Amino acid sequence: MYVGIDDTDSPDGMCTTYLCNVLLKKLKSEGYIIDGFPRLIRLNPFAPHKTRGNGGVSFKLPKEQFKTKSLDVLKKIILDEVEELAMFDCDNTNPGVVFYDGEITEEMENYAYRTLHEIISIKEAEDFANHIGAEIHKFKKGRGIIGSLAAMSCKLTDYTYELLAYRTPENRGTKRHIDYDSVVRMDRETDTFENIDGKYMAIEPNTPCPVLYGIRANDYHSLEKAREIVKLGEPVESYCIFLTNQHTDMHLARAENIANMKQYSSYIVDGIVKDKPYTIEGGHLFFTLMDDSGEIEAAAYEPTKNFRKIVAKLRPGDKIRLYGGIGKENTYNIEKFKVLKLNDVIYKNPVCPKCNKTMTSAGKNKGFKCKHCDYKIRNSNKIPHKIKRSLENGKFYETPVSARRHLAKPLVRMNLE
Ligand code: ATP
Repeated sequence: MYVGIDDTDSPDGMCTTYLCNVLLKKLKSEGYIIDGFPRLIRLNPFAPHKTRGNGGVSFKLPKEQFKTKSLDVLKKIILDEVEELAMFDCDNTNPGVVFYDGEITEEMENYAYRTLHEIISIKEAEDFANHIGAEIHKFKKGRGIIGSLAAMSCKLTDYTYELLAYRTPENRGTKRHIDYDSVVRMDRETDTFENIDGKYMAIEPNTPCPVLYGIRANDYHSLEKAREIVKLGEPVESYCIFLTNQHTDMHLARAENIANMKQYSSYIVDGIVKDKPYTIEGGHLFFTLMDDSGEIEAAAYEPTKNFRKIVAKLRPGDKIRLYGGIGKENTYNIEKFKVLKLNDVIYKNPVCPKCNKTMTSAGKNKGFKCKHCDYKIRNSNKIPHKIKRSLENGKFYETPVSARRHLAKPLVRMNLE
């Protein structure tokens, strides 16, 4: 028996993971058995109605227990909890709950894949739920059924875990009290990642949601250790570990070429830098990436901070592989890139063999002449010079932790050795 829940929060509070955590504790106290970890599945980062990280949750209950326990009671507990905790006042909060009794099929996995790569309508999700025989519950517009179905259906060939600590009700919306030095220690001593970025504590959300911190790792044992190291100046209401697709690059599809890429989807794409990167007001950096099929504007936005300085080192003719997606402005947002082949050649006018001064053009296809001694060369070809580049062939460069997308795989997870 699978349960999927999505779209219960708003920018002013709540978090679907918190609702799931409350629910799981309640179900366990009522004697229900939950199979494994609940799942937090991040979906298309460009979905138009997302509150923050476009995540849906799901969990699984072994079926045998329903010989003695009531399925109807289970469903009622879940639906009542959504009714009680979801932020219904927000226009953009349209919860959806899905119950599915059966095996996850290949077409369900394909649906989840599409939910990471395309924009899905409520109608489409509803039709699909009917087709597979899932039971849907829509609150208000019920948009959450899109993510609920995907959260239970998503195939996890790569995965990570996230430990979420939740705040007590009286502290929510106030400044969080997490000891920075202990987070630095935790980062150093455990096999976790994305914890800090200089003085910035990435484990701490900057919204008024009930989450106190979230720590991410490849395995859940590291999370238990991390929890013991982090010191807090406030109580924790509860903890929950989720199995997730965060930091797996699951949102990226290999683009055949630039022309085939679609807006609101994410790709790995190869191309040549066409022009010198330039900065516009607000600090956003752009350049054009091209291939035989066409070109696209690629961007490193202001929040990517020092990453922009690295991107600015690209020069026309560099062959690169970009990882990222195409957002609202139809611009490709870079999450990371790999240098495939640097253009390390510049072409200069020849030096006069007689007086060693740089020669000037003698006119189109008329070669070069020396202004000082009048020496002439008929050949019009400039002379190639190798230049030193500060970027390296074969190397990856990524956005800082503070600007990292939930789904973006950090280099520390890429086994680059
Ligand atoms: P949080 O991560 O803080 O829980 P959120 O960013 O996940 O919030 P939601 O409140 O869940 O935001 O809203 C996202 C909405 O978009 C949900 O209703 C979800 O069903 C829907 N959605 C998810 N993926 C897609 C998609 N590919 N196309 C269209 N809608 C989608």
